Amino acid sequence: KNLETVKSVAPQEINKGSKRLSCVVKPPDTLTKRGKFGEASRPNQKFYDMIQDFRETLELTPLSTTDTIEPRRICVCVRKRPLNKQDINKKEIDVVSVPGKGALLVHEPKQKVDLTKYLDNQVFHFDYSFDETATNELVYKFTAKPLVQSIFEGAMATCFAYGQTGSGKTHTMGGDFTGRQQNNTKGIYALAAQDVFTYLHHRRFVNRDLSAYVSFFEIYNGKVYDLLNKKAKLRVLEDDRQQVQVVGLEEVLVSNAEEVIKMIQIGSACRTSGQTSANANSSRSHAVLQIALRCNDRAATLHGKFSLVDLAGNERGTDVSSNDRSTLVETAEINRSLLALKECIRSLGKNSDHIPFRMSTLTKVLRDSFIGEKSRTCMIAMVSPGMASCEYTMNTLRYADRVKELNGNSAING
Ligand code: ADP
Ligand code: MG
Repeated sequence: KNLETVKSVAPQEINKGSKRLSCVVKPPDTLTKRGKFGEASRPNQKFYDMIQDFRETLELTPLSTTDTIEPRRICVCVRKRPLNKQDINKKEIDVVSVPGKGALLVHEPKQKVDLTKYLDNQVFHFDYSFDETATNELVYKFTAKPLVQSIFEGAMATCFAYGQTGSGKTHTMGGDFTGRQQNNTKGIYALAAQDVFTYLHHRRFVNRDLSAYVSFFEIYNGKVYDLLNKKAKLRVLEDDRQQVQVVGLEEVLVSNAEEVIKMIQIGSACRTSGQTSANANSSRSHAVLQIALRCNDRAATLHGKFSLVDLAGNERGTDVSSNDRSTLVETAEINRSLLALKECIRSLGKNSDHIPFRMSTLTKVLRDSFIGEKSRTCMIAMVSPGMASCEYTMNTLRYADRVKELNGNSAING
């Protein structure tokens, strides 16, 4: 089914929305031992050369800060990270190209039965595609920023970072890793917080008499842990009016962006504390930062809420190689929550009455975000550029493709 939306293309066809075309690959005898760009020979030199040849024919129209932003109820984007030191040490080759205009190509290396190497070039189209040179600021501007304004207008908004472990989810949401430390002032969390305070003081909203509150929690194995309260385990309750509540979740009143950044630092440190290997736990849990706007009345009525979610690594939902029972349970839970998320966003896109939010804890706690006229969501699918990640990258792109599938007409006004 998914194959219908994935097309093999020749470079000149990418912007024409064409169907399947076989791609032109130079015969192997034109390839020298040393790459045509002078690099030393490496295991995948032939593929590297083929990809470079393909790229030379690509017409590039990268996104720029001055491009217009179309507000959408459901926005699905993709971001490619650059090759990192580890990739380069492993002599990884970059198999992903981002020509722009929402397009992204995967040059999947393949081999025929007679061992002839060829590329299966597949193109995907999203609302926006960010290449390896895109900054967090640029990504923010096209993804989360429009949602910040929507919560002032009473919306329940969500922004998800989806992808394989190591693809850049935490870098995008939590901030750049400069050196050893993460710079929390340069992530979508912090950029959104800054804009929340800009809007709070804006003359258009200042009369609404609103305050901002922050909560930060983690969902691991279907259980909720408060990252602002020493990982206290919290219960999720649904009342008879189907309102879902996380009982006892800390909600901290904040009065400027610096205070939010402090909360992000406390929560992020709490998230990774007590971990044995570098990425162990955090790649298996979803982290949710919420910024709620409440009226300064006695009941502190909820006005709007923005949930920013750094999802568990999607490869964790498919890995069944482990013999350990608890790992398999975790895997099943991650798989279920990511499936539920996809289905809930699809229901939102269809304006369906039936939202399958009960399928997982993640979708239960985000229930309000999938109902109502004012709900808005953005998914940023992260991909690693390396050939070794190709299969995971394809899985990520297929998932993102399914999320946006029904939403061709979801552009809204204002
Ligand atoms: P994830 O949270 O998806 O597991 P991380 O955000 O931890 O992945 O990123 C993995 C590594 O790649 C980190 O060292 C991070 O600094 C680096 N990285 C990710 N995205 C980018 C990017 N856009 N530019 C530069 N480095 C990046
Ligand atoms: Mg991470």
